[in-house]
Amino acid sequence: MPVPDNPLLHIQFEIPFDRVRAEHVEPAIAELLTTARASIEAIASDPEPRTYASTLLALEKATEHLDYAIGVVRHLEGVATYPELRAAFNAVEPLVSEFYSGIPLHSGLWRAIKALNDSHPKLSPARARLLIKTVDSFRRHGAELDEAGKKRLGEIDVALSKATTKYSENVLDSTNAFELVIEDERDLAGLPPTARAAARVSAESKGLNGWRFTLQAPSYLPLMTYLDHRGIREHIYRAYATRASHGEFDNRQITAQILELRREKATLLGYRDFADLVLEDRMAKNGTRAQTFLEELRDRTESRFALENQELRDFAGFDLEPWDVGYWAEKLRLKLYDFDEEALRPYFPMEGVVSGMFNIVERLYGIKVVHKPAAHVWHPQVSYYEIRDENDELLGAFYADWYPRESKRGGAWMDGFITGIYDPPHVEPHVGTICGNLTPPVASTPALLTHREVETIFHEFGHLLHLGLSQTEVRSLGGTNVAWDFVELPSQIMENWCWERDALSLFARHYQTGETIPEDLYRKMVRARTFRSANTQMRQLGFGIVDLKLHREYSPEHDGDAIAYSRHVLQQFAPAKFPTDHATIASFTHLFGSPVGYGAGYYSYKWAEVLDADAFSRFREHGIFSREVGLSFRNNILAKGDSEDPAELYRRFMGRDPDPEALLVRSGLL
Ligand code: ZN
Repeated sequence: MPVPDNPLLHIQFEIPFDRVRAEHVEPAIAELLTTARASIEAIASDPEPRTYASTLLALEKATEHLDYAIGVVRHLEGVATYPELRAAFNAVEPLVSEFYSGIPLHSGLWRAIKALNDSHPKLSPARARLLIKTVDSFRRHGAELDEAGKKRLGEIDVALSKATTKYSENVLDSTNAFELVIEDERDLAGLPPTARAAARVSAESKGLNGWRFTLQAPSYLPLMTYLDHRGIREHIYRAYATRASHGEFDNRQITAQILELRREKATLLGYRDFADLVLEDRMAKNGTRAQTFLEELRDRTESRFALENQELRDFAGFDLEPWDVGYWAEKLRLKLYDFDEEALRPYFPMEGVVSGMFNIVERLYGIKVVHKPAAHVWHPQVSYYEIRDENDELLGAFYADWYPRESKRGGAWMDGFITGIYDPPHVEPHVGTICGNLTPPVASTPALLTHREVETIFHEFGHLLHLGLSQTEVRSLGGTNVAWDFVELPSQIMENWCWERDALSLFARHYQTGETIPEDLYRKMVRARTFRSANTQMRQLGFGIVDLKLHREYSPEHDGDAIAYSRHVLQQFAPAKFPTDHATIASFTHLFGSPVGYGAGYYSYKWAEVLDADAFSRFREHGIFSREVGLSFRNNILAKGDSEDPAELYRRFMGRDPDPEALLVRSGLL
C-alpha cells in the first residue's frame, strides 16, 4: 500500500532524516526499482542513434534516485536503527544488490554502450573516461561472454559467495569455540585491571568462577602483551594461530577452493590471474606492479627489522618464541619511552579539536566551515555544517555524529548522500556525513579524546572534503568514487597534521588551562610513534605479499597445501619462528571472507601510506599551512574525484610519481 508523502521519493538537499520511518522503506524502494528498471529498458530499446545523453547520462540518471534512497536507508540503519527498520532494510537490500549486479549483464544495454563506443563520439575528458570505464566494467562483469560463459560465471559467483560465507562462519565459530578459564588469581600476574575485570565479567556471564579469556582481540591482545605466565601465553597463541585449520571448522579445503574459483573466474574473463582482474581499475593497474611495490619496500625495511629483533632479543636475554614477542616488546617500550597515552586526553577536548581542524582546512583550501542549527537530524547529538567557498558560494553540507549509542553500529566512517554535478553554470552542492564512536562527554567534563581518536576525526573529515570540494561534471566520477588504492590519500594525509607541533599548538589545548602540550610529553609521543615500526611494516608487507603470491603464483600442483605455502611465505616477515601448524591464512577473513573483499588488494594499505606520507612532504617543505600547496592539493586531487587517472592527478600535484622515501622517514626506517 502506498504511503502518502513518502520522504524517500524526493531527493532533497536538506534530507528529512527525522521523517523517514521503517514503513516508508519497502514501498519507496519497490517504486524506485520499478522506475529504474523501466529507464534501463528505455535506454536499451531506444531506436535513435546513440549519444552520450541518451546512453551514459541516461544510465546515470536511471539509478540516481535509487542510489539516494537506499543510501539514506542504509545510513539510518547504521546510526539509528530499530527492529522494524532493520527488517525493512534487510528485506530490500538483496533486491537492490541483485538489480545493480544485473546491469552489466543486460545484453540490450551492453549493445547500446558498445554502439556509442564504436561511434567514437567527441566527448569531454571526464565523459570520455566514463565511457571507457563503463565498457571495461561491463567486460569485467562478463558482458562479452557467450551464453555458456555467462552461465559458468554465474555458477562461479554463486560458488564463491557460498565458499566465502562458509569460510567466515568457520572463522567465527572456531574463534568462539575456544575459551580459557583461569581460576588461580596468581596466574594473572602482569595483566592490567581493565583486562582482568573484563575476563571476570566474561566468566560470570557464562556462570563460571575465575577469569574467562577468548580469542577475540580485546581479550587475546592484553594476554599476549602483558601476562607474565609464559605457558598460558603459548597456549592461547597456538589456539589463535591455528583457528579454522582443523576439526569441525576447518578452512583448509575451502581456502584452496576459493583460490581455484577466483583463478577460473579471471581466466574466463581473459585475465592472467585474479590480481590482474581486480587491480585493472585501481591505481596499481596490475598484480606485478603491486607486488614489485611491496618487494621494494621490503628490501628497504629488512635491515632495520633485523636490528629491532636483535635489540629485543638482547633485552629479553634469550631467543624469543612467537608468544614472547609482544610481551617483551611492551616491556622494552615502557623502559625506553615511559609514555602514557592517557596523559594527552586533557589536551584534546572535542570542540577544540574540531574547530582547530576547521581552522586548518580554512587556511589551506580557502574555504569556510560554518556550524548551522541542525534541522531534520536523526539524533540530537548530530551537528550540521556548511562548507562555503571564499566567495560564500555553497559547496556542500555535512552531518557529524561522533558519539556511541546502542542503536548505532561501531567504528568510524564517512558516507556521501548527494554527489553534486559541477558543470557551470549548473553547479550542485554535495551532502555527506562523518560518524564515529569516540569517547563521549561525562557530566560536566567535555569529551576528552585520545590522540588516536583525534586522528580518526581528521581522517574521516579528509574523506568528507574529498566529497565536499569535488568539482566534476560526471556524477558517478565525483567525490570519493575513486580507485580503492587512491581513496585513502585525502583521508590519511589529514592525520599528518595531528603530529605537527605547529598544528597541535593550534588545536590541542588543555580543556581547563588552555595550555599547549608540554614539550617533553610531545617529544615522547613522537618518539614512541616509531617504536618497532620495521616490525609493524614487515607484518603488513607479509600479508600483502602472501595475498598477491596466493592469487598470482600459487598452484596446488606445484606448491601443495595453501596453508603450508602461506606459512612459509609469512615466516620471512615474522620476528620469531612459527610453530609447524601455524595457519593464519585459514582465518584471514580480509582475504577470503567475501567473494572479492581485500583479495589481491591487501597491498593498498601500504600503497595509501606511501601516497599520504609522500604528498604531505610537499606541505612540510613549503609550510604545513601553505595556501599555495593547499590549493594545489584541492584543485588537483580533492576537486577531481575519478574524472582523471589517479596516477596522473598525483603527478600533477607532486610533479612526479610517488616515492616511498617519506614513509620510510616518517616510520623512522631511514
Ligand atoms: Zn578511510
